[in-house]
Amino acid sequence: MNVLVTGGAGFIGANLCRELISRPAVGRVIALDDLSTGAAANLAGTDVELVKGSILDCDLLEDVVAGVDAVVHLAARPSVPRSLADPLASHEVNATGTVRVLEACRRRNTYLVAASSSSVYGSVTNLPKHEDLPTRPLSPYAASKLATESYLLAYGSAFGLPGLAFRFFNVYGPLQPAGHAYAAVVPSFIDAALRSKRLTVFGDGHQTRDFTYVGTVARVIAEAVLRKVTCAKPVNLAYGTRVSILELAQHLAETMELAIELHHEAPRRGDVRDSQADDGTLRGLFTELTAVPLQQGLSETVKWFRSLPEYASNRHGTSPLCDANSSSARAPKMAQ
Ligand code: NAD
Repeated sequence: MNVLVTGGAGFIGANLCRELISRPAVGRVIALDDLSTGAAANLAGTDVELVKGSILDCDLLEDVVAGVDAVVHLAARPSVPRSLADPLASHEVNATGTVRVLEACRRRNTYLVAASSSSVYGSVTNLPKHEDLPTRPLSPYAASKLATESYLLAYGSAFGLPGLAFRFFNVYGPLQPAGHAYAAVVPSFIDAALRSKRLTVFGDGHQTRDFTYVGTVARVIAEAVLRKVTCAKPVNLAYGTRVSILELAQHLAETMELAIELHHEAPRRGDVRDSQADDGTLRGLFTELTAVPLQQGLSETVKWFRSLPEYASNRHGTSPLCDANSSSARAPKMAQ
């Protein structure tokens, strides 16, 4: 089987490409990516074929989809804050781009998996979030992800296109970049801790998230592709863990064996308060698969960060903030 991954040089995409290429049933893996947030280096040392280009280019899409048996569509402008800064750009890539990918798939009835987001639940406060709840996006990003999954399902109903829309929750793990304004919380925290800086918490830190290790996400998607799993509704891709941002900081302090200091800023516009997946549909479709536990996933992620040259001086967990003889060395210190 040959597989195309749009956004294949990005964080989740590159982890997925690496998972797919390791499977005996998979021949070629092609990553289509414009490298706007992804990087060719994420695929270095693999047999994954990188095609540099945009999902907005219909001719290019036509060419790359023609050579594959399945498509995983991950290319997007991810991030709520980026969509607040430029809603049209998010719409163009996330909504219009998805329709272009779907059109290329429709011509050959090519199986498609697409990435939606837990952000589509938005202001709906019920927990855990199950797929039959209403959707109330709080940001242009969330609206564009609702468009992504809605189009995929509509192409299934209208044209019989086989596909699956996954709602990712907070995915973390190796290859997820830190150190920029739109960085996700796990890499931001690890980066700050390794640089002996305070960790920025937006709001009181009691907001909760369902963190999913990227290796878990890659295995579920690979399984979906290999079995061409379909579903008439979107499927949450998370296993129902509910961890507050303060608890996350605590877990990281323990994993990294560093003292961590927090600094609070105002809550961010468009962020949801609580998030936790109902994983019933996922478990029903992928009965053999289980999730990598948070502690293990964080430990793998920290190991990856420490392997990067820019953190070389902090490989062994030493830090000016860390006093190895102190009983508080492993506990986050809450700055007011
Ligand atoms: P990412 O930024 O690392 O990956 C997106 C990739 O798409 C990048 O490699 C980027 O260069 C590429 N891209 C952007 N515009 C493109 C275009 N026009 N043509 C071709 N490639 C383009 O982010 P990620 O976290 O890996 O996200 C992957 C997908 O998962 C996205 O669709 C995102 O919305 C979704 N998602 C991610 C999370 C998460 O926690 N990371 C949560 C919910 C949903």
